[in-house]
Amino acid sequence: QVVTRFAPSPTGWLHLGSARTALFNYLYARKHSGTFFLRIEDTDLLRSTPEAVQQIFDALRWLRLDWDEPVVFQSKRQQRHKEVGQSLFEKGMAYWCHCSQDRLQALREIEKSQGRVIGYDRHCRDLNLSEEPGVSTLRLKAPLTGSVHLFDHLKGELSLKCDALDDMILLRSDGSPTYMLAVVVDDHDMKITHIIRGDDHLTNAFRQANLYHALGWNLPEMTHIPLIYGIDGAKLSKRHGAVDVQHYKSEGFLPEAVESVLLRLGWAHGNEEKISRTNALKWFDFSGLSPSPGRFDEEKLIDLNKFYICHYDLENLWNILEMKGDKIRGFKVLSELQKRAKTLIDLKEHLNLYVHEEIPKISCEMLRNILPKHCELLKNFADSFPENFGEVESFVKNFVEQKAIKLSEFGKSLRVMLLGKTSSVGLYHMLEVLGPLWIQKRIYSALK
Ligand code: GLU
Repeated sequence: QVVTRFAPSPTGWLHLGSARTALFNYLYARKHSGTFFLRIEDTDLLRSTPEAVQQIFDALRWLRLDWDEPVVFQSKRQQRHKEVGQSLFEKGMAYWCHCSQDRLQALREIEKSQGRVIGYDRHCRDLNLSEEPGVSTLRLKAPLTGSVHLFDHLKGELSLKCDALDDMILLRSDGSPTYMLAVVVDDHDMKITHIIRGDDHLTNAFRQANLYHALGWNLPEMTHIPLIYGIDGAKLSKRHGAVDVQHYKSEGFLPEAVESVLLRLGWAHGNEEKISRTNALKWFDFSGLSPSPGRFDEEKLIDLNKFYICHYDLENLWNILEMKGDKIRGFKVLSELQKRAKTLIDLKEHLNLYVHEEIPKISCEMLRNILPKHCELLKNFADSFPENFGEVESFVKNFVEQKAIKLSEFGKSLRVMLLGKTSSVGLYHMLEVLGPLWIQKRIYSALK
């Protein structure tokens, strides 16, 4: 029975990297008919906010990554974490440390001046000190010799010399558990079988392995995936523009497109780019993971978004866009607009121009390009526009011929006058959908 988890810290919007971690854990669990848990790691009470928790829920729902209940809030499990810490002390696997902040700071200064990592010098390890609330921290008695071994599904057999790791703190002087202790206890209690996460947690994994051994618990299977990089090869950060899921949602990207891009960041199935959820569930496995970091390419996201927008039927699209207005007119033009849209926002903006009688005010600058040339003609055009749809094309052709103007130029003016845009669907199509009444109304009111 596979059990995975996604364990975000609720300190801000859901980062693309975290969303990918969630996706991989979700796919792995669902592929094996297992369980996918969500654990909110909200132990940093100063930085964790309820809004961020809500945003994580919303983003996961939007990405269609449904989790199994119950959601675990790490902060609510502190008592259990403390008990496990105490049990380690009782077994002689952990000790109380009384070193002052000043002493620890001095160690860090030495470390800095020598330019090497030493960590805690184990001063209290064999002093048999007792717990003293407000003063003592509980530290793991980590092995001093040998190596910690770890199997990682992507990186293979790994090991780290024990002297590279110091005796980490498990309980702080205020009694609260550290991240290291909480994660291990929670993963164990939740019966997590597989951990998939970013490889920024790899060093933690060795420390956690020591803790598992001290507790006599089995380690879940580990997979550490490379972080996501920008197209320039640097670690994905705010510098690359938007890095959170929310941004793409509000900019009119479909979850299918975001999912396809995330899937390909560090995982592949041949050269497939457009991977449906069904295929993702069929194909996702550790052998498709790549040791080199994935590069996030926004252009590719736009291409995929265009692709997925075209796959929606009109009714669904109308609903997703939360459209109001003249649906009959809208449906006449939606399949054409759908082929041209990069995002849902873009699509909605254009579609709105066909389904409401009134359109947003056309910018003066746009009008200035037409007015001197075609102003009078446009009025004529509106006055004599035919009632009958079938006659639109011949009417327009005759009109430009009679007035000795170029169809392409006049067409441009018409588009600006009627839509406030220089491009949209074909000219006749646009005129047919709008119909004589709206055409006249728009032209007259723009010329007023
Ligand atoms: N809460 C950690 C984070 O957001 C993840 C811990 C884990 O996956 O083990 O980076």
